[in-house]
Amino acid sequence: MIVFDGVVKQFGDNVVLSELDFTVAPGEHVTLIGPSGSGKTTILRLLMTLEKVNRGTIHVGGKCLSHMDKGGKRVPADDKYCREVRKRIGMVFQQFNLFPNMTVRGNLIEAPCRVLGLSKEEANARAEELLELVGLSGKIDEHPTRLSGGQQQRVAIARALAMRPDVLLLDEVTSALDPELVAGVLALLRDIGETTDITILCVTHEMGFARDFSHRVMMFDRGKVVEDAPPSELFTQPREQRTRDFLRAVL
Ligand code: ATP
Repeated sequence: MIVFDGVVKQFGDNVVLSELDFTVAPGEHVTLIGPSGSGKTTILRLLMTLEKVNRGTIHVGGKCLSHMDKGGKRVPADDKYCREVRKRIGMVFQQFNLFPNMTVRGNLIEAPCRVLGLSKEEANARAEELLELVGLSGKIDEHPTRLSGGQQQRVAIARALAMRPDVLLLDEVTSALDPELVAGVLALLRDIGETTDITILCVTHEMGFARDFSHRVMMFDRGKVVEDAPPSELFTQPREQRTRDFLRAVL
């Protein structure tokens, strides 16, 4: 379960998220849509503890991201605590962010060995299994720079899954891809959504994908939730004028 409770995030005077409340149930797929600058990526970055809230709290799986319990006292979270929470959360970025100096295998086994303490054999077996899932079995000893954008993004998805996360965050994962590679990556994500019980939060401009992948779609504007509804409602009968205007502009 993910719980945002009264979350305020600002950069200087720019209030990016204001008093944001929402929950995401385990296994739910939620897509965040809205105009550029409405705060969608900031929500994912807060969940990855790459940013800190100014006010309010975020809980993931019962753990508060900003504070921890130390000797019965609530104190600000330290780096070790954040790393522990982050273990349960995987994120895939627009720009893949693979380690360019490592092979595909290296990218897939590094964190499971270092962070989860898996043996090389275990991590390798997991890497091989995941590469098969993402359709790249033959590329395990390749360097990422020799792969296409779509293949690199598949490796990035496999790398996130290698940590067996409870929560997967997808930040515009097809935006940097050539158009003909987008469909394959979206099909892979649909497959992952159907075959795992991972909670998935997704920021995307692919409205067709949002429509058939999500259980819920949240429409943001200026750091607030404008509308929160199943895709069958939000895309066909949006309640809010702001949602209607946004959908008219992007569809
Ligand atoms: P897009 O669809 O264009 O990716 P978004 O809805 O994901 O937009 P965010 O990236 O969350 O929006 O940005 C929200 C606001 O926060 C923007 O005004 C942005 O300039 C600002 N912002 C984000 N990160 C920082 C930062 N590190 N420092 C200062 N301002 C930031």
